[in-house]
Amino acid sequence: MKFLTTASSDQKLRIANYLKSGMSKIIVLMGAPGAGKGTQARLLQERLNLPQISTGDIFRSLKNAQTPLAQEVREVMAAGQLVSDDLAIRLVRERTACNDCRNGYILDGFPRTPAQAATLEKLASEQGKRIIAILIDVPYELLAKRMTGRRNCPICGEIYNVYFKPPKNDNYCDLHPDTQLTHRADDNADTVQARLATYYEQTLPLLQYYRTANLLRTVDGTRAPEVIYQDIEGIIRDQK
Ligand code: AMP
Repeated sequence: MKFLTTASSDQKLRIANYLKSGMSKIIVLMGAPGAGKGTQARLLQERLNLPQISTGDIFRSLKNAQTPLAQEVREVMAAGQLVSDDLAIRLVRERTACNDCRNGYILDGFPRTPAQAATLEKLASEQGKRIIAILIDVPYELLAKRMTGRRNCPICGEIYNVYFKPPKNDNYCDLHPDTQLTHRADDNADTVQARLATYYEQTLPLLQYYRTANLLRTVDGTRAPEVIYQDIEGIIRDQK
């Protein structure tokens, strides 16, 4: 609870409201690559003090590992395809068993296939948590520009975009002025097209699955991040 002693009164109020709002939750952020899931997951993590679990970030963290498995993951990612269900499922199972997930957690990039969605349902029931799936809806035409323009700070993870949210100083983080921003290897134009195709073929059908189960809420992802965040926090608060 060290966090609570350093949190601002605004954060404390948000966290208290979240904890009051019933069963602990698995907040599943859905949407195409480039929809803004990472940005919203970071805001939720910061303001509700729930861990953000990004399978993409975890796979990317293998980038320097010299093992056959890491090499295989790098190749799959570079081709814009999906890592095996087995691996993604094992990773999420292990990570969500950690103590910091007890009040709920945010999933960014999982589930992406029907097998992963089925596992998540099992996990939710084992862990006594309720799933809320939130689709951040962004039209296809905007997505490619969002991805190819995306830059990250390697220190704090802050997300910029050269078209929509440029840093104050060319290619340097506003919060870490000596640190050059990085461009994700899979945000190049070719891989972006492959990732979008993979999303529309393999992940889009999951939306119907969550819609039918009445678990899906949709927010318009073309607006400013703070406006989208307010909608998302409202949805989470209203789900008892
Ligand atoms: P993301 O950062 O969520 O766009 O993920 C980057 C890449 O990591 C994807 O293109 C996939 O190759 C891999 N990846 C991330 N999450 C998953 C998942 N749940 N299942 C399979 N592959 C994934």
